[in-house]
Amino acid sequence: MSVSRRGLLIILSSPSGAGKSTLARALMAWDPSIQFSVSATTRSPRPGEVDGKDYLFVTESEFKRQVADGDMLEHAHVFGNFYGSPKGPVQEAIHAGRDVLFDIDWQGAQQIRNSELNTNTLSIFLLPPSIPELRRRLEARGQDNDETIGRRMQKSWDEISHWDGYDFVLVNEDLAETEQKLRAIITAARLRRTQQPRLTEHVRHLQSEFEETT
Ligand code: GDP
Ligand code: ADP
Repeated sequence: MSVSRRGLLIILSSPSGAGKSTLARALMAWDPSIQFSVSATTRSPRPGEVDGKDYLFVTESEFKRQVADGDMLEHAHVFGNFYGSPKGPVQEAIHAGRDVLFDIDWQGAQQIRNSELNTNTLSIFLLPPSIPELRRRLEARGQDNDETIGRRMQKSWDEISHWDGYDFVLVNEDLAETEQKLRAIITAARLRRTQQPRLTEHVRHLQSEFEETT
């Protein structure tokens, strides 16, 4: 099948609480053709999270079986739980020219960048405006107990220290402004020459027209 452009793998990473999920939701509302990569995880669902929509909640043995069967595009151990991106839906989407959005950590981003899908990847890192604001956001979210928040804060530097491996880095201070910038980055990346396989055909057509008229 010939598609007008190749799908992008849009990777959003940040320390926990910096705003990935909020911005991912905003981007999918902006452009419903963007497909969210629903990760498999062994962590328990938070209140309001829907199995199959936010995450695929699986047991550790089920997760390990999927990894062993080669069904994961990437996977990592984060905050004591396993997380991974199922391969099938991603392959289907990008071949059909749809973009896929990943909310994954730096280890997953690195694995995708080192895979054969590298040329279709757009990676964006979100930094918090400050460490106290990061804690405030984790507390405001109201979904984790003090101990979990403490653990996420402890781990935040592990994630932040990988900020320089990403194509784009945004400080998520004002939410609306960050969303605008993300839209601009995605719009530009879709126009990369390598994302537009049909350009060759178009230029050939222009050439024949050019030769006819000159
Ligand atoms: P959050 O940090 O509040 O979003 O809490 P979560 O428990 O939902 O996610 C914890 C971390 O795991 C975040 O850094 C996510 O980006 C990351 N994560 C989620 N899914 C995946 C995945 O499929 N692969 C990898 N490598 N990381 C993931
Ligand atoms: P992550 O997915 O990175 O863990 P969330 O998207 O869950 O982070 O955001 C954590 C909390 O911070 C949420 O309550 C969200 O509404 C809030 N938040 C996100 N971005 C901003 C921002 N720019 N300004 C203020 N609050 C924000």
